[in-house]
Amino acid sequence: MAEGSQSAPEAGNDMGNDDAIGGNVSKYIVLPTGYCGQPKKGHLIFDACFESGNLGRVDQVSEFEYDLFIRPDTCNPRFRVWFNFTVENVKESQRVIFNIVNFSKTKSLYRDGMAPMVKSTSRPKWQRLPPKNVYYYRCPDHRKNYVMSFAFCFDREEDIYQFAYCYPYTYTRFQHYLDSLQKRNMDYFFREQLGQSVQQRKLDLLTITSPDNLREGAEQKVVFITGRVHPGETPSSFVCQGIIDFLVSQHPIARVLREYLVFKIAPMLNPDGVYLGNYRCSLMGFDLNRHWLDPSPWVHPTLHGVKQLIVQMYNDPKTSLEFYIDIHAHSTMMNGFMYGNIFEDEERFQRQAIFPKLLCQNAEDFSYSSTSFNRDAVKAGTGRRFLGGLLDHTSYCYTLEVSFYSYIISGTTAAVPYTEEAYMKLGRNVARTFLDYYRLNPVVEKVAIPMPRLRNKEIEVPRRKEKSPPYKHPLLRGPASNYPNGKGDKKSSVNHKDPSTPF
Ligand SMILES: [Zn+2]
Repeated sequence: MAEGSQSAPEAGNDMGNDDAIGGNVSKYIVLPTGYCGQPKKGHLIFDACFESGNLGRVDQVSEFEYDLFIRPDTCNPRFRVWFNFTVENVKESQRVIFNIVNFSKTKSLYRDGMAPMVKSTSRPKWQRLPPKNVYYYRCPDHRKNYVMSFAFCFDREEDIYQFAYCYPYTYTRFQHYLDSLQKRNMDYFFREQLGQSVQQRKLDLLTITSPDNLREGAEQKVVFITGRVHPGETPSSFVCQGIIDFLVSQHPIARVLREYLVFKIAPMLNPDGVYLGNYRCSLMGFDLNRHWLDPSPWVHPTLHGVKQLIVQMYNDPKTSLEFYIDIHAHSTMMNGFMYGNIFEDEERFQRQAIFPKLLCQNAEDFSYSSTSFNRDAVKAGTGRRFLGGLLDHTSYCYTLEVSFYSYIISGTTAAVPYTEEAYMKLGRNVARTFLDYYRLNPVVEKVAIPMPRLRNKEIEVPRRKEKSPPYKHPLLRGPASNYPNGKGDKKSSVNHKDPSTPF
């Protein structure tokens, strides 16, 4: 969560347990107490030593039950939310209960039906576990910490299973994505390295605009977008990718936006934290979204680099920095929504509300009623607050939040879980909203080839016509069934060749 405070009502105890957790478990084999032979099938092997992995400790409670401990953020034990680990050496039909016992927060979307993600070697598409197999409660055994327990039935002995808090989106995936964009040789897409992190990962900066806008002396209207300052907030990357994919597409709206605006995008502000599997902090344990006032080039180099660029643009009379949007994910709220600033100038305050209102018309998952404006002291070091104070009255700075879990379409009460595609769709709708904001619709009509009218207010991007990943509403029979379609866990219902088979 963006700004989301770690203040008293939400924060848990400072440490999850007495024993410090040093790192991730590495191919850790759980053997029954007193067992000394070779490991057998069913003696689970846990691993989190991979990119964005996180699992600090495993305690076997009984033959069927395991307590799992999140590894705290590096150099900062206060943050324990993101988990991402694999389990292998399973037995067919082995039923287990996993308890995640050391969350640092008490409020959670698990109360509202959120469920962990799972995939396996033969079913590589991430799926949410059926919510009925997930329990979130205050546990007397763990110092009254809140515990999230889920029941799971392993069904394929050869598979490696992976569980995560939300859809992972790694630094390597991001680099491959940018490489693939670069290979397309688009004359309106530019990638540069703005700096590097403490562990020398790239701080990428993208510029998407018509080459005409980059000629010397050209005046520029700039929209600046950043993401993943909080590394565990993976939906931020999907939204950001949705924005980028749309802006580089041949859609008539994208073409007009490129003519009119210069998009500067730094999609991953905290590459070390992403790589390490942290939830909120950098390698050195800093919440970078609290250090905008005075970032150090040594300790917060990526933030320092982005801030320098923004200040430089602000001081350039040819550049008008019109929008700053920082993309986050929220661990307790539904929908997409925004945080904005409070200004003394009433007119400026009113104008600030225009963009979120327009976005609400374009995106069914975006809620204007959850959008709020504040000037809390604890958020003074956020990008949105700092730049809101720095930039002049024609600039607007927002934090865009999107739920880790779901959205509720207005007029209904059912929560629709977000998919990777739905996050990207929100990004496309964010991009498209600039057209409405700048009233460029008549320009599009002039340049546009006829386009079919879009369903559900969605913008359709010609190049990316993916179907939304299937999500079957869970109707479960028994607590250990992993099958969201309610068929039970009979072997006959499993199609071993279909990668989309539910768990
Ligand atoms: Zn955040």
